[in-house]
Amino acid sequence: MSDEKQYKGSCHCGNVKFEANMNLDKVMECNCSICGRVGAMRSFVPATQFKLLSGEDSLTDYQWGKHHLHHLFCKKCGIHSFAKGTARDGTDTRAVNVRCLEGVEPWSLKTTHFEGKKL
Ligand SMILES: [Zn+2]
Repeated sequence: MSDEKQYKGSCHCGNVKFEANMNLDKVMECNCSICGRVGAMRSFVPATQFKLLSGEDSLTDYQWGKHHLHHLFCKKCGIHSFAKGTARDGTDTRAVNVRCLEGVEPWSLKTTHFEGKKL
């Protein structure tokens, strides 16, 4: 496992900006009906390691299915830069879309496939 690093991320228009301390060893591509459409590559991080720097009022919340996750997207540019949820152990968690991180080449990352479609 590599060390955690601070990454900066944003939506497309720049209204939503955040930083997160994380490593990108476990990046997940999920094939559920929303992740498949969004094309997100996600990495999960405890909320304590995630900081929203701007854009709180630009975020629109979208929930579906069992309402476990808050799929947040920028109301101006439509980009899903992260989602909010609670892990099985109760930890407040952010699912960062690593495609929205600065200086990260998504093609260089090893991803695991998650069968969200089957849940
Ligand atoms: Zn935006």
